[in-house]
Amino acid sequence: MKYTFGPVNSRRLGLSLGIDLLADKTCSFNCIYCEIGASPRVTCDRKEYTPTAEIIAEIDRVIRNQSGSKPIDVFTVTGNGEPTLHSGLGKIIHHIKEKTDKPVAVLTNGSLLHRADVRKDLFEADIVIPSLDAALEGSFRKINRPAPCNTLGEIIEGLVVFSQEFTGKLWLEILIVKGINDTPEDILALQKAVTKIKPDMVQLNTVARPPLEKYAHPVSQKELEHIAEELPGKVEIIVDFSQKKKEHTRNANEPEILHVLQRRPCTASDICEALNLDTDSTEKALLHLERSGSITKTEHQGRKYYSAS
Ligand code: SF4
Repeated sequence: MKYTFGPVNSRRLGLSLGIDLLADKTCSFNCIYCEIGASPRVTCDRKEYTPTAEIIAEIDRVIRNQSGSKPIDVFTVTGNGEPTLHSGLGKIIHHIKEKTDKPVAVLTNGSLLHRADVRKDLFEADIVIPSLDAALEGSFRKINRPAPCNTLGEIIEGLVVFSQEFTGKLWLEILIVKGINDTPEDILALQKAVTKIKPDMVQLNTVARPPLEKYAHPVSQKELEHIAEELPGKVEIIVDFSQKKKEHTRNANEPEILHVLQRRPCTASDICEALNLDTDSTEKALLHLERSGSITKTEHQGRKYYSAS
């Protein structure tokens, strides 16, 4: 499968089929915490980066071949960069809504929501999860390193307008990086922006997986809890600070694991959680994949992460 992956367990969304609209990483930002690597193309150009018809045909194949043991709870448009850059987004969401009664979620960095065509493309989605990591210009530039065509004022305004127009659920994600967007001034500016945007919920996050820049460090659980208290409305901390092993039942399958690792680095327990796999067979499969050179292991914040070679 070229454009779809999973379904994988997502703590936020349930059993999620990922849909990736961009073959090579293409984004309007080049965030210091990005877990999928540097953006070779940092752009605001909206176009058909990959053929819409091919993506739709693949989604149809997945829907046709869906097995009863892994029913999809949600179709999630996400992946290798910023999905709203793809001009076929609206058509793809519309197609999924016609073919299934499952919800469609879109993860976006929110940078193009000031454009009416992008907002219109998202209207049929059920859940939109845009990011807003900073509401101060200096912090925004440091953390998100946007394409020159992005301005923070325009992005916040786009979020405000989208929130007023959109009838689905709007969950605003804020990712905090230690020493970059965690000052009292940053939190006050974010508080004002969230008050204007009025999302259904704020999802607070920090750097969990190996970041693009080594200096992008996470804040502690306590710091996130403190920030959560400062923000208005419903706020949920979504990073999982626990390193507890959870019990899962299925035996590991190497191609499935490799497919997940081609998207982003994961720990063994992330993989077990995402694919509902049993711990022992997953560890054996990871060892075998590592020995065969298909994956590599790195250490981040005391945890072992695997990535496709
Ligand atoms: S917006 Fe997302 S995909 Fe783009 S650079 Fe930032 S983290 Fe990576």
